[in-house]
Amino acid sequence: MSLKPAAVLDALRAVIDPDLHRDIVSLGFVKDVAIDGGKVSVVVELTTPACPVKDRLKAECEQRIRALPGVTAVDVKMTAQVRSAAASGPVLPGVRNVLAVASGKGGVGKSTVAVNLAAALVKTGARVGLMDADVYGPSVARMVGGKGQAQATPEGMLRPFEAHGLKFMSMGMLVNDQSPVVWRGPMASGLIQQFLTKVDWGDLDYLVVDLPPGTGDVQITLTQSANITGAVIVTTPQDVASEVASRGLKMFGAVKVPVLGVVENMSYFVAPDTGRKYNIFRPEGGEAPYKRWGVPLLGEIPIEPKLAGLGDKGIPVVAAEPGSDTARAFLELAQRVAAALSTVTMSQGASGSPVNVDADGPHLTIAWDDGHVSQHNFQRLRFQCACAQCVDERTGKKRIVLEFIDPNVRPKAIEQSGRYALQITWTDNHSTGLYTFDRLRQLCECPDCVATRAAR
Ligand SMILES: [Zn+2]
Ligand SMILES: [Zn+2]
Repeated sequence: MSLKPAAVLDALRAVIDPDLHRDIVSLGFVKDVAIDGGKVSVVVELTTPACPVKDRLKAECEQRIRALPGVTAVDVKMTAQVRSAAASGPVLPGVRNVLAVASGKGGVGKSTVAVNLAAALVKTGARVGLMDADVYGPSVARMVGGKGQAQATPEGMLRPFEAHGLKFMSMGMLVNDQSPVVWRGPMASGLIQQFLTKVDWGDLDYLVVDLPPGTGDVQITLTQSANITGAVIVTTPQDVASEVASRGLKMFGAVKVPVLGVVENMSYFVAPDTGRKYNIFRPEGGEAPYKRWGVPLLGEIPIEPKLAGLGDKGIPVVAAEPGSDTARAFLELAQRVAAALSTVTMSQGASGSPVNVDADGPHLTIAWDDGHVSQHNFQRLRFQCACAQCVDERTGKKRIVLEFIDPNVRPKAIEQSGRYALQITWTDNHSTGLYTFDRLRQLCECPDCVATRAAR
């Protein structure tokens, strides 16, 4: 009996992407299966070159194929094609993902995080642009060492600067010391829109946008006009008591941009002489704010005094000192951000969208645009909350117990988040859980879905 491609695909259906919770065949990751006698070659295309589980997935694919009868040799090639979230119009054609880096207030090192995150994404093999939209204090140009006047293309577009393998552009180029006043009021919005569409970014996997600190009109306009895929919020341990950063969460919620998580900057101090780490910045008994908000912690960036001068010289730490604690923290951050963005883009459109959500009956009913009507028991759905308060991020274990949840719990408010999830505020005042469309479909308790699942 000779080997068939279908048998190989069937074997690969057992390989599950740990971020997307689906098998790599139904996700469309398996691009090519070639069989030559007993030799099997497979191409697996991931959504991000930074995929932290790439090696694990490769090993699992090899193992599954090798277990097939008649296989004598296995060759699994892993590639990556970053997918685009662009569902509503190409504001920035050629740009697959727009990532906003935001903070509730200034002084938390937001621009440093944006620059180094962009430089770290370059290291993963992605094409990356960096837009300094911090019109109040543009500093990215200085930090990546860019000088001089922006050049225009023959088509009248602005050509971004290039340094450290990334393209960058600063809105500061539109402002001079005499004109900051223009950035207040409605004029700012028009200029921002114009600027956004006037930069010739070419093809990019990621455009990192360094948003101005705060949550005012300018930030909201930027967020809406750039069609942002996801946002990260930069905080410091000292922000614990403040509600500033949580305003950022509310703002992105209002404009329906998913918040991927929090980056804690100046998280700990690395002593220059001994290399020892000190958590001197977290107030006594203080709890990190992201725990209360239920969004994931994407990274903790240390302070290393020996690296302090780099930013002023225009060199990202990631490029200058790749072996440092700080650079490693940024590379890990880049991997988590890339994985989170690919989860957002994969979830969008995968399961259709809800056309009607009804929480007034005995259970939650969602009518989907493909005609399916899903049903969810309130208590069990509350139990399935996947936020960081309800599930341990590291182990994936639930932190809540079904029996301890109020049997009469109901949604108080349901809002759509981005184009991929519902955010439910429950009567027990828990509101940090996002239920992706994908997940809701998987959790459906309608008689049809229950019967299908039982048959499997
Ligand atoms: Zn939760
Ligand atoms: Zn169903």
